[in-house]
Amino acid sequence: MEKFTKILLTENEMPRQWYNIMADMPNKPLPPINPATGKPVGPEDLSVIFPMELIRQEVSTERYIDIPEEVLDLYRTFRPSPLFRARNLEKALGTKSKIYYKYEGGNYSGSHKANTAIPQAYYNKQEGVRRITTETGAGQWGSAMSFACNHFGLELLVFMVRVSFNQKPGRKLMMNTYNARVVPSPSTMTAAGRKVLEADPDSPGSLGIAISEAMEIAAQDPYTKYSLGSVLNHVILHQTIIGQEAMIQLEKAGDYPDVVIGCFGGGSNFSGIAFPFLRENFTKGKNTRLVAVEPASCPKLTKGKFTYDFGDQSGMTPLLPMYTLGHNFIPDKIHAGGLRYHGAGVLVSQLRKDGFIEAKSKFQRECFEGAILFARSEGILPAPESSYAVAGALDEARKADLEGVSKTILFNLSGHGHFDITAYEKYFEGNLPDHETTAEEIEQSLANSAVPVIS
Ligand SMILES: *Cc1c(COP(=O)(O)O)cnc(C)c1O
Repeated sequence: MEKFTKILLTENEMPRQWYNIMADMPNKPLPPINPATGKPVGPEDLSVIFPMELIRQEVSTERYIDIPEEVLDLYRTFRPSPLFRARNLEKALGTKSKIYYKYEGGNYSGSHKANTAIPQAYYNKQEGVRRITTETGAGQWGSAMSFACNHFGLELLVFMVRVSFNQKPGRKLMMNTYNARVVPSPSTMTAAGRKVLEADPDSPGSLGIAISEAMEIAAQDPYTKYSLGSVLNHVILHQTIIGQEAMIQLEKAGDYPDVVIGCFGGGSNFSGIAFPFLRENFTKGKNTRLVAVEPASCPKLTKGKFTYDFGDQSGMTPLLPMYTLGHNFIPDKIHAGGLRYHGAGVLVSQLRKDGFIEAKSKFQRECFEGAILFARSEGILPAPESSYAVAGALDEARKADLEGVSKTILFNLSGHGHFDITAYEKYFEGNLPDHETTAEEIEQSLANSAVPVIS
């Protein structure tokens, strides 16, 4: 058997379609609801803020959707992304298991977010949009969108969660370099932001608040649309290029995963790597376990409630059926800014409810410990978000060794941590607190986030 460490594909081997899990889900998700009418949301309700093609993808049940040629052209500048066998990490652990990781940090944005930023900017441009508004947590999504919008000749306005704006000035400057305007959120530019600031002038912000601000601006101008970097079905669709490539790469290595792991914010990188393997579970009788790893401070999949809730803080989105901590939940200021979101995407929520995926939560210190072991073995400095996937993979390897078995483990290294070096500094100083959201806090937040009753 040949010895594989880095498995590359040629541009011609890159998949030309995205995979839509909706086609194969045993139970389709419940529809999004318009809170004003209590009725399912129609495409026309969404057309104020999204271009039609993305709305079509949002509700599509077609199994495969073609990737446009202009999108493939930009994908080719950084895809297919490499799949690595983590041989040095395996050695450091002394594990009998095989650990593979798909590295999505090698593109301009430093994370998987470029995979959906490019098609989102493209479809908006096609439909005559001139400006896009969006939110960003840690800044990876804003960076991904900034380059993509500038490439297709669109303006971009980014609301960046204030705590990340302060923690990561480098990300803001990067977005500015790609020609985007960046505003810390909550801001005084919007009614949603002003309301939060009135109640708490020192609000650290949240993704939910930043989404409200970006949507509010988009709803006021017919040439401005809004764009979201996670959670929604069309975003997750675009990310399935990750898992489809990984499957081809593993096949070249003569392997197939027993378990696939991703960190979990709104669900896009986890779903992107996991859903193509879930398709094989559904259609070919495979038995791969799919594990989402979320922060103990923002534990929607493990401690949240499955219910209709808003996707943003001020209630501008439709009501979505999802695992949620309540749309008013303000997560602790952990360094994995991209994981500080109160809800889980609708597709993942339904699949979790039906028992097709697993979830676990972790403290940030254990994850940084894993990330440092990974950096010292493999050389890549993981994003704080990705460190949750690293820690999840280490758990699987250690568990297999205790059981005396060897597993094939695949995880998604969703991004690099080059802009997060101060978080590593805090870890080394012993200044990175663990935080767990308690059941009482979640109950309180859900009670504070009551939504219109749906009959
Ligand atoms: C945004 C981000 C995440 C979290 O978002 P998901 O939609 O859950 O993937 C994870 N890792 C990185 C590097 C990110 O930029």
